[in-house]
Amino acid sequence: RPWSAVVLTLFPEMFPGPLGLSLAGKALAEGVWTLDAVDIRGYARDRHRTVDDTPFGGGAGMVMRPDVVSDAVAANHTPERRLIYPSPRGRVLDQALVRELAAGPGVTLVCGRYEGLDQRAIDAWSMEEVSVGDVVLSGGEPAALVMLDAVVRLLPGVTGKAESLAEESFETGLLEYPHYTRPQVWDGRTVPEVLVSGHHGRVAQWRREQAEAITRNRRPDLWARYVEKE
Ligand code: SAM
Repeated sequence: RPWSAVVLTLFPEMFPGPLGLSLAGKALAEGVWTLDAVDIRGYARDRHRTVDDTPFGGGAGMVMRPDVVSDAVAANHTPERRLIYPSPRGRVLDQALVRELAAGPGVTLVCGRYEGLDQRAIDAWSMEEVSVGDVVLSGGEPAALVMLDAVVRLLPGVTGKAESLAEESFETGLLEYPHYTRPQVWDGRTVPEVLVSGHHGRVAQWRREQAEAITRNRRPDLWARYVEKE
């Protein structure tokens, strides 16, 4: 069975968007995964197809109604999939969670707009909140695209070589070493000598040293965890 993504959104036309192109798009066309973008507005109850209302307690912005959101979830979510609400309050997405999601049967993503969902809809469905970083987006859709992109490239057969995944940033606990290709001299800049030496052992050692130095300098948080595990 293909890995399945269901996205509940007020803007279904944002999907597949970039996921219809390149590796993800090819995998989608081949049936490796499926994407179903469902318009939450289709579950509105009134003539005006209202999906939001003003917040109790006052304040700026609008809140997405729990009844409408819940009906959309009930009609489209099946319990074998993880039910995720992309939200800046969530656990921050990382490669470990992406791997977990890729190993499962799929996800249902509920995209917020305005000030987000009424808390009761989140509670009633025990939605998992996942953030794509400490920034505020205008809606859950770009976050959903980020999550799906990261997952789909891990599905079997989507990314060319398994080794190219295994060595990447985060998979080893380190950020990746620098890459170089032809021309060997460009604009007066040369490729590090060791990479053209043909000596596989020295290349591997150089790459490891580079990855360690980059991680230590740029991400002391990742470095501390890495050193602890070693
Ligand atoms: N009022 C919310 C707050 O201050 O936390 C922000 C709401 S935001 C304008 C609208 C929607 O965008 C949210 O409901 C959520 O679905 C999505 N969103 C915003 N930032 C996000 C992030 N960093 N990660 C995942 N989703 C995000």
